[in-house]
Amino acid sequence: MSELFAIQPPFLEISPQYDPWDPLPAFRRYGQHRLTSVELTVTNLCNMRCEHCAVGESLTLSEGIRIPLADVLRRLDEVEHLETISITGGEPSFHEQTVRDYIVPLLKYARERGVRSQINSNLTLDISRYEALAPYLDVMHISFNYLNVDDFYEVGFVRSERRTPRASAVKLYERMIDNTRELSRAGMFVSAESMINYRTHDKLVGIHRLIDEMGCRRHEVHPMYPSAFASNLPVLSLDQTRQAVHRLLDGRNPELWMLFGTLPFYACSFLEEDQQIITRLRGEPNVTVRNDPDGRNRLNVNLFTGDVYVTDFSDVPPLGNALTDRLDEVFARWKEHPLYSSVGCYCPGANCCGPNLLVADTYYKDVDFSTRRAIV
Ligand code: SF4
Repeated sequence: MSELFAIQPPFLEISPQYDPWDPLPAFRRYGQHRLTSVELTVTNLCNMRCEHCAVGESLTLSEGIRIPLADVLRRLDEVEHLETISITGGEPSFHEQTVRDYIVPLLKYARERGVRSQINSNLTLDISRYEALAPYLDVMHISFNYLNVDDFYEVGFVRSERRTPRASAVKLYERMIDNTRELSRAGMFVSAESMINYRTHDKLVGIHRLIDEMGCRRHEVHPMYPSAFASNLPVLSLDQTRQAVHRLLDGRNPELWMLFGTLPFYACSFLEEDQQIITRLRGEPNVTVRNDPDGRNRLNVNLFTGDVYVTDFSDVPPLGNALTDRLDEVFARWKEHPLYSSVGCYCPGANCCGPNLLVADTYYKDVDFSTRRAIV
């Protein structure tokens, strides 16, 4: 399959030293947050119904017509400082036609412009869908929260309207593992994300080992915050989350890049345990902590309605519409929004631009971060 990767990107390699999705490098370059990243929701269809799905309420069984590709490309073209795109769903590859008519052209556009690309997939479908993306794609992002097929079956179909037979889940699980191995072996950058939640927090080292064994190039770890399907699931305490991160750092393969995102620990905390974990994360080889792009340098565009959101899973109503508005204008509008300033702190020495809306709402309702400063 190596010929699928014949088109080699003449760009910087995505690495712990270069993560173009992190909002801070652009913030430093421009002296303010700029729109450098656009996320495109290309489908609301998915063959799974994961318990923690951040967009679970939006998933449907059928869907209408997308806005024309030419309009989407025009809107992307107008984004002056565009550096990354992310393609999301549902399962973006659910229909082969979406792959052919939207995803591949979007990825080709990105590659030609030097914009880096990511797709969020469950990798459970026929490998040909993913091979079609391989020549143009920078990061294949998957969710991986399982030690075995039982975990997968328990988590991945719990919200299905009709009971999914176990045998079907086994087939999908095996295909996901095989696809991940095969695509990784052929050179695709597969980044597997695990959530820290009530099911996974004491299994993360085992999950990490499977991700490593499958040949993934990065293990992303994010705490689960209550949104959509996850809104009624138990939330871990900050202490449980801290312990889970420490255990993972103790048991991981230090050669594999680990990216922690949306962590609820900040360098302005007076708690010794927060200062310890931040100091530890900074000193670990091949570990990075990414600030959340949502609302900092990224907007989400729904390709069915054209609606533009601050994230694909927030309750904030649309800020504009791609059929009528330039995306840079919508981003400027977001920066005037009262919620923007509530998550707008920045401590350069700590490489931190504060909690996102969900983190602030989950753990720090009474904290005014605009009055705090990093102390470690
Ligand atoms: S940027 Fe905000 S959250 Fe981060 S250390 Fe500074 S004050 Fe705290």
